[in-house]
Amino acid sequence: MSNSGIYVQVPFCQTKCTYCNFHTGVVASSRFRPYVEAVCREIREHRLLLEAAGANWPGRWRGGGVARETRSEDLAVDTVYIGGGTPSLLDAAHLQNILNAIRASFAADLTEVTLEADPETIEAGKAAAWVRAGINRVSFGLQSFSDKELVAAGRMHRRADIYRAVPILREAGIRNISFDLIAGLSHQTKASWGQSLQELAGLAPEHVSVYLLEIDEDSRLGKELLQGGEKYSARSVPSEDDMVEFYEMAQQVLRAAGYRHYEISNWAKPGYESKHNLKYWRREPYLGFGAGAHSFSGTERWANAHDAAAYVTAVQGGRMPVEQHETMTAESALEEELFLGLRQLDGIDLAQIERDYGVSLAARFDPLTSAGLVERDGSIVRLAPERLTISNEVFVELMR
Ligand code: SF4
Repeated sequence: MSNSGIYVQVPFCQTKCTYCNFHTGVVASSRFRPYVEAVCREIREHRLLLEAAGANWPGRWRGGGVARETRSEDLAVDTVYIGGGTPSLLDAAHLQNILNAIRASFAADLTEVTLEADPETIEAGKAAAWVRAGINRVSFGLQSFSDKELVAAGRMHRRADIYRAVPILREAGIRNISFDLIAGLSHQTKASWGQSLQELAGLAPEHVSVYLLEIDEDSRLGKELLQGGEKYSARSVPSEDDMVEFYEMAQQVLRAAGYRHYEISNWAKPGYESKHNLKYWRREPYLGFGAGAHSFSGTERWANAHDAAAYVTAVQGGRMPVEQHETMTAESALEEELFLGLRQLDGIDLAQIERDYGVSLAARFDPLTSAGLVERDGSIVRLAPERLTISNEVFVELMR
């Protein structure tokens, strides 16, 4: 039995963070209900919509490295990830409706149901309703414990909100909490980053994601940097060398606190690796619902319209809201297999991949092994743990 994941995108936020390059909008809360109704309809009518659009779902997909036909009755759903945006802004009843639609439309035995949340949106009543709806994991966009950094980044919450929100969630019965931190925020120093890591470890979430800030030139901060301006504390962005040091500090602190580093940006207490996100890195099938949501059948990838209003109009008109579609070639599938597989610190089984794709990869990997960028253990190949900060260079070399 193969299990699929479902991703639901909620593209609304209370404000726009200075570094944000996501397709999210600050809208009146009156827009939430029609959006949620469209998402529920897309979920309930997914078979009809996909058939009408000619999308190959359920498709041939690669499971355990072997391509095989799947039957619709094989496609049980065991993980749901409601992300954004800031989906915790929605009423709990909206989230309940989305999860009800999923349970009614799929063979759903949901073992992991994640809600992305911002700390300032947490209230006891909401948290209790989330648990009743079946949400059992909350992923917190903390980014930092420093108010100076949070203000510069345009975040709505402050350090005190984090300490207020976590006990509310624990009290409500959430046993699986993930924290996101960003290395590279304006005003971040080695001391303030170390402080954030220590405070995070003190709150003992089950899972941690650490992202290096990538400044998109279309974000407000990116535009300011390009113009050489001062707004958004653009002159106080740490250097790339600082960010490398911050990442290495995170590796040390989180290892000492009992977390296993299992993916380039992710650490977990034993048994708390994100089941849903592992599907992305393992190229297992998932369906995305909502504006801008991506889906993968094993042979095809497609993405919904990013514009929330266009998405709602398409679903209300009974049309598949897709704006991008790609059929995988053997070459693009192999590239993904390497790129996504190597993000996992357990590495990839090179001999298995060579058999599946009928290729020899020795010429690509031997120079990287000689340079100490990847390690080999029999047929298992993994990124060298002490060279993870230059993983992008490794991927570029590998895809040449
Ligand atoms: S909360 Fe996330 S999605 Fe929303 S504006 Fe900030 S970075 Fe962007």
